[in-house]
Amino acid sequence: MKTKTVLTKMNPYKPGKQIEEVKKEYNLERIVKLASNENPFGFSGEVRSKLPEAIDQLEYYPDGYAREIREELASFYDVDEKQLIFGNGSDEVVQILCRAFLEEGSNTVMATPTFPQYKHNALIEGAEVREVPLTQGGHHDIETMLQTVDEKTRILWLCSPNNPTGVLMDKKTIDRVIEVCPDDVLIVMDEAYYEYADESRRYPSVEAVQNHKNVVVLRTFSKAYGLAGLRIGYGIADEALISAMEPAREPFNTSVIAQKAAVLALQDQSFLHRTVEETKKNKQDFMEFCEEIGIGYDQSEANFVLVHLPISGDDMFEFLLTKGFIVRSGEALGLPNSIRLTIGSEEDMNEIKEYMREKLT
Ligand SMILES: *Cc1c(COP(=O)(O)O)cnc(C)c1O
Repeated sequence: MKTKTVLTKMNPYKPGKQIEEVKKEYNLERIVKLASNENPFGFSGEVRSKLPEAIDQLEYYPDGYAREIREELASFYDVDEKQLIFGNGSDEVVQILCRAFLEEGSNTVMATPTFPQYKHNALIEGAEVREVPLTQGGHHDIETMLQTVDEKTRILWLCSPNNPTGVLMDKKTIDRVIEVCPDDVLIVMDEAYYEYADESRRYPSVEAVQNHKNVVVLRTFSKAYGLAGLRIGYGIADEALISAMEPAREPFNTSVIAQKAAVLALQDQSFLHRTVEETKKNKQDFMEFCEEIGIGYDQSEANFVLVHLPISGDDMFEFLLTKGFIVRSGEALGLPNSIRLTIGSEEDMNEIKEYMREKLT
């Protein structure tokens, strides 16, 4: 049997360590997972209490149009219902975009390092991937990215805040990308961590969608809303763009349960606010700690921080594992001598700080 040639050169996604795996391996009671930017405060109590009674009629396929969450979100953002597309996580919306826009002979432009799924899906579609290194401090190098765009470019990816650096793109920069980028190139703004970014600094991307037919914004219920386990994310774009993508979407790609939970989660904005406020506070404390012990970090507007270390990221990763903390080694992300860690609860952050201090001083 023969797969697509490109697959023979690709690896499956390597997930962060799983909690049970680490418990067994290191004989630990308690594990704190700060590796995948999940919500340490869980998810909305409204979802927990109301979802069980909302789950019924599982013998039927879900509503492929996802009407209830579609109506909720359309009114939440003040956009037309037809400007939304849902995915089994925003991961799947990335896949749909690649299926819909990329093919052999086309290319796509992105930063590196950034969220790996853009490249992964683009390669499967046979497109050429053009990666432009981030500048010092973890910013998108937009001038080089714009110069890299040519007549065969179909998608330009912006990740803001960027994963794995947490750096938010400023308004002037994004305005310039939208202005200079040819109208027939799709600009994808992946805003998985949008809710965490400072309100005064985040880009008015939904407004941009209303004014530009080639912009799509990706958001998700996985991060600040705490529903990563249910898999639901979405894209917002011009109606014609969404219609163009729809044939590449599986008809029943989001489950009954995920759709319902997303509605309940969206209605509980107080949980979101608590999550964001706690995260900001703990992140601030953590950055002060980094300064105190003299290690660098990228300025993060997300719920994680990329920390620059005087030792290898793998070393720090292994050391923290023995203490029951799972983080992401920068080596695995293409950033040696760093780790990316999700901002956890105050208690857990205080504990990890002490272990880091122990290892580094
Ligand atoms: C986590 C993440 C996503 C994917 O989120 P899902 O909605 O869970 O698929 C997308 N983009 C970035 C940058 C992320 O970090």
